[in-house]
Amino acid sequence: MSIIQLSNISKIYNPDTVPVRALNHVNLNIDKGEFTAIVGPSGCGKTTLLNTIGGLDHPTEGKVIIDHTDITALQSKALINFRLHNIGFVFQDYSLLPVLTARENTEFIMQLQNRSKKEYRQRAEELLKEVGLGDKMDFFPSKLSGGQQQRVAVARALAPKPKFVLADEPTANLDSKSTNDLLDIMLKLNKEEHITFLFSTHDQRVIDKARRIVVLEDGNIVKDEVLTVSY
Ligand code: ADP
Ligand code: ADP
Repeated sequence: MSIIQLSNISKIYNPDTVPVRALNHVNLNIDKGEFTAIVGPSGCGKTTLLNTIGGLDHPTEGKVIIDHTDITALQSKALINFRLHNIGFVFQDYSLLPVLTARENTEFIMQLQNRSKKEYRQRAEELLKEVGLGDKMDFFPSKLSGGQQQRVAVARALAPKPKFVLADEPTANLDSKSTNDLLDIMLKLNKEEHITFLFSTHDQRVIDKARRIVVLEDGNIVKDEVLTVSY
């Protein structure tokens, strides 16, 4: 059973005025442990696809089933709760809370999960060490580079032990070195902790590291390629 199952997903923005068909009858299954890139030119529907999987956007047609739960059938409060516990998000602009330190940003969602302080402190520290920020845990985002901020975002996304992580153009604002570092960390987490990553990108350096490449064109999946990569 796939962890993500999209069946016949279509998304039409502004159906009553100037309709834009962003996704066109998309079917896609993602299994646990994948490291998959959604690729294609700007406007092909990558963000809409990830937002639909993450329950941030409601499809016009079709179902999104996450580990046996049809999230398209959930009411908003249930959906928010489901997201919080099951899906990790990484955004291209990092989206850290500026008034919280790296540690506090990482702890934040776990606090909403009613975990004990001891437990969330320890988990945040472990995760920040894992992304190479053990010496910067008490830094505010403004004191961190873009690459470091994005690594905090990865630690934050993993904190609630989600079923998978969605990352929309995670390296769009990073230089080559930070892009490489981030990808290496994501790959390590995938390999060692079996974290499932689904990310969008149009950066060839990022595409080269993926193990499965799903190509979108005008809201249609035109290619879906599983690669054999050795490390
Ligand atoms: P990508 O992430 O590949 O750049 P998007 O999913 O952002 O693609 O966009 C797919 C299509 O949907 C584009 O034509 C875009 O202009 C359109 N679109 C995205 N969001 C909206 C919106 N909120 N309202 C209207 N059209 C939108
Ligand atoms: P990306 O390239 O990362 O998909 P975009 O710049 O296409 O990002 O879109 C950024 C935001 O603008 C998204 O929230 C998207 O929903 C919205 N958007 C994109 N295209 C349109 C559009 N034609 N009309 C209204 N909103 C849009």
